[in-house]
Amino acid sequence: MKLSIVVPVYNEAENLEQLHQAVHNALDCLTHVEWELILVDDGSKDDSQHLLENIQQEDQINTRVIELRRNFGQTAAIAAGIDHSCGDVIILMDADLQNDPADIPMMLEKIEQGYDVVSGWRVNRQDKFLTRVLPSRIANGLISFVTGVHLHDYGCTLKAYRREVLTGFRLYGEMHRFIPAYAHSVGAKMVEIQVQHHPRRFGKTKYGLTRTLKVVLDLFTVKFLISYANKPIYLFGGAGLVLMAGSALTLLYLVVRRLLIGTSVTRSPYLPIAIMFFILGFQSILMGLIAELLVRTYHEAQSKPTYTVRRAIGFTEE
Ligand code: UDP
Ligand code: MG
Repeated sequence: MKLSIVVPVYNEAENLEQLHQAVHNALDCLTHVEWELILVDDGSKDDSQHLLENIQQEDQINTRVIELRRNFGQTAAIAAGIDHSCGDVIILMDADLQNDPADIPMMLEKIEQGYDVVSGWRVNRQDKFLTRVLPSRIANGLISFVTGVHLHDYGCTLKAYRREVLTGFRLYGEMHRFIPAYAHSVGAKMVEIQVQHHPRRFGKTKYGLTRTLKVVLDLFTVKFLISYANKPIYLFGGAGLVLMAGSALTLLYLVVRRLLIGTSVTRSPYLPIAIMFFILGFQSILMGLIAELLVRTYHEAQSKPTYTVRRAIGFTEE
């Protein structure tokens, strides 16, 4: 098995040596695994860059380093690491020693059992309750509900993926936490395992409460992309039909009222409302049609299939 461990690093100087050692301790005994540790320096302003270079110099067999030109954020750093990796299995992990590399062998066992995604779950999360743990619980519930993929801990970076389920989409914004939801949408088999979590001993956390807001906004995008990216007309057209039905019902009400009690149709405040509903509904359907055009351009320009294949049996190479 070929394994790549991708770790984003932003101002983590005090943690790097120990992290490197911990990964070796966890993996050196696994003789059947060929592994690489990809450390992505996300424009650190402390000594991290220099330290990473040293670590790589001393361990050229297993360690690779990527230096980004500036701070692009955790998601972009992870994406850079994945793009440069060569493993069939990719494990994502934080650099701050809050995740424990000792959990990796257990995750690999699950992959060997045939799972495509092994999601770490920090049962005893060691972070501040009010600003981190509580918002994260709410976010997990919300993400599980909206995407229909029920995981206890979307926020835990420590997760393992088979490469196939990671290709086919790009990561934007704060979206690395939604990878399991994407993976599920392409048909990945998932399992959740409990992993250890330690308090941060060195360096500072880079996030606070505002991240939860970003996560909620990203959730809109993800839900849209997963559920409607291939058929936007269902969403826009659906909304359009509802609005037009509202318009028709309002008009019907006005006409019936005119016939029964003789109230004027043209002087009723409901008439402009009915017209507004009609225009909005019509616009919405048009928007759906334009979105359908975009989807076709997207799939056809990149020859992207609208499905994913797990295995093809009985075909020859050509
Ligand atoms: N990180 C990064 N770029 C950033 C912010 C964070 O590469 O702009 C890395 C950071 O070095 C760490 C991981 O992302 O390895 C998670 O960050 P942190 O520990 O601050 O998040 P928390 O564990 O508090 O959620
Ligand atoms: Mg951390």
